[in-house]
Parts: sequence; C-alpha cells; structure tokens
Amino acid sequence: MMRPLAEAVPVVGVLALQGDFEAHARMLRELGAEPVEVRVPRDLSGLDGLVMPGGEAPTMTLGTEREGLAEPLRAFVGEGKPVLGTCAGMIMLDRGHLGVLDVECRRNAFGRQIRSFEANLQIEGKPVRAVFIRAPWVDVCGEDVEVLAAVDGHPVAVRQGNVLAVSFHPELAGETRLHELFLTSARSAGTRSRPSPS
Ligand code: GLN
Repeated sequence: MMRPLAEAVPVVGVLALQGDFEAHARMLRELGAEPVEVRVPRDLSGLDGLVMPGGEAPTMTLGTEREGLAEPLRAFVGEGKPVLGTCAGMIMLDRGHLGVLDVECRRNAFGRQIRSFEANLQIEGKPVRAVFIRAPWVDVCGEDVEVLAAVDGHPVAVRQGNVLAVSFHPELAGETRLHELFLTSARSAGTRSRPSPS
C-alpha cells in the first residue's frame, strides 16, 4: 500500500570526507530523515537530498578529487535534488569549486580577529540562530541567486533553484529550522523515499 508522501522518510546524504558531517547526520536523524554518509560516488545513488558540511574547503576539494566525486556531485545537483551547503560546504558549491552555485565566496571573510560569532537572522520569515566559524560570505552573486539573509550587507544565506547555501553552522547551534526547510524540499523530491516504519 502506498503511504502518504508526508510520512515518507527522506534518505539524505552527508558528504563525509572531512568536517562536521556527524553533527549534520545527528540533526537529520532527529528530524526524521535517514542520513547516509557519502564517501565515494556510489553512495550518491538513491538519495533524496545531500548536505555539504562545514570544514576546510581545500581539504574537502582534495578528498572529492581523490575519490572521483566532483563530477558525480555536479550531476547530483544537476538532477534537481535538494542540496544544502553550510560554511565550507557553501564554498564547495561556488564558481571556484564545483561550480554548481553561481556565486563567488570569500573565505574567512569576517576577518582573523573575529573568527567566531553568533547572530540572529530571519530566513523565509523564520528566526534562525546562526553560528559563524571562520565563515565565508558571498562576494559576487549571479542573477539567478536569491539572497535570503545578509550580515553587514554581505550575503550569508543564498538559494539558487534546488541549492540552499549558508555560511554559518545551524547544526552546531541546535538550530533545526534550516534543516527543516531543506527537508521539506527533500520530502517532496523523494520519489524513492522509503516508507516510514510507523
Ligand atoms: N574557513 C573554512 C574554509 O574557508 C570554512 C570554515 C567552516 O566551515 N567552519 O574552508
């Protein structure tokens, strides 16, 4: 028997080469999704969405090259499945890296002195607690890119079609609203979602 879509459990990949992928996996599980660690191209098959975590963009770039993941990741985004990038994950998506989000990020943009800070943002009408850790901001934005939030006039949350990217760490602040927003898209994209056990 087909269950209603609202009960489907979205299967969400988390790029697990480096960075805080475990914090994302925990949050996804708490929100009722099934996280899957992505380390090699075959891990991408059957996913309803993908999270690119924070960490260090150069290390993650080396990892994706070593594992032959760059092209499969581009193809995954091209399929229109929801993708969430946070901090280094946002950098990984930009023009200078995987090139699937039409922005240029400035790494460590908030300066060496202020390596870490928190801010209250509004995203899609909802308050979002944002933890910034050696965070980038968006320097250049393509015309199809929607700016969802900015700090001191610099975009820190953007969306282009199926790609949502933020320069902060919701998963480290216990902030679930951004993942909920992302999972709403993953649920509706989830043609291959597994039925909920309940
Ligand atoms: N400073 C890191 C970079 O530029 C990003 C930091 C993070 O993901 N918290 O790659």
